[in-house]
Amino acid sequence: MTVHFWGVRGSIPSPGPATVRYGGNTPCVTITFDAGHILVLDAGTGIRRLGQWLDTTDHEIYIAITHRHWDHIEGFPFFGPIYQPERSIHLLPVPHVNDDWSLLRLMDGIHSAVDRDVLRARISHEEEGLWQKLEASGITVRMIANNHPGGATGFRIEYGGRSVIYMTDNEIDPPNEPTTSRETLVDFCRDADLLIHDATYLDEEMTERRGWGHSTIGEACDLARDAGARRLVLFHHDPDRTDDALDEIAEQVDQRLAGEGLMTAIVAREGLSLQL
Ligand SMILES: [Zn+2]
Ligand SMILES: [Zn+2]
Repeated sequence: MTVHFWGVRGSIPSPGPATVRYGGNTPCVTITFDAGHILVLDAGTGIRRLGQWLDTTDHEIYIAITHRHWDHIEGFPFFGPIYQPERSIHLLPVPHVNDDWSLLRLMDGIHSAVDRDVLRARISHEEEGLWQKLEASGITVRMIANNHPGGATGFRIEYGGRSVIYMTDNEIDPPNEPTTSRETLVDFCRDADLLIHDATYLDEEMTERRGWGHSTIGEACDLARDAGARRLVLFHHDPDRTDDALDEIAEQVDQRLAGEGLMTAIVAREGLSLQL
């Protein structure tokens, strides 16, 4: 499977000269499988360029949204395939969010310029059984409740003996009783080939931001190490984090992990593609 990053920025898009290299689009990650399916994780602004690329393919599109915060849904009305006749798109049902709000409700002519009636794709909407369609192709997905205001879902995707975890908008060590304990998070991430995890803050920024539903770079590294993950991708960068600051983080993390020799870490950037 191939994991591709279309948007890696948290909270709000952050275009401009200081974010050109890592990118300013909000979360969108895809996993493509040999079977011809593509699983889209989150519909942040990165999904717009994904849509342009999908114009050239006939992938069957499955979309799963971690939660309904703006940065994870705001690209959906600009996702070209929803306007294509003959395109199959499946919006997967996801637990652990606190309401039944749907992506299609964005398309009401008020919150988006267009109404859902103009969509031309065949969109199956959060129907039971959609996950089983993926399972029938040998793709298994497990989900877990993240620690995040309003709820969010983490995913563990396994295919062909490899595993990828997508866990963004998760506070590993929240100030109050966690929805999911650190121990359970470690178990969920156990032996992952690739762990994509929220790393919004620097350790020194966290005192003022505890309870906001995000983690530090250090906490993400510790979780990955304790779980025995082989590769960690630091994801959901703070909108104020510049390219130079992210370069520095990459160096610091390399040094931090060099002595351990078990795991490598990558700072997510738009356009990054990883094969598993
Ligand atoms: Zn977010
Ligand atoms: Zn969020």
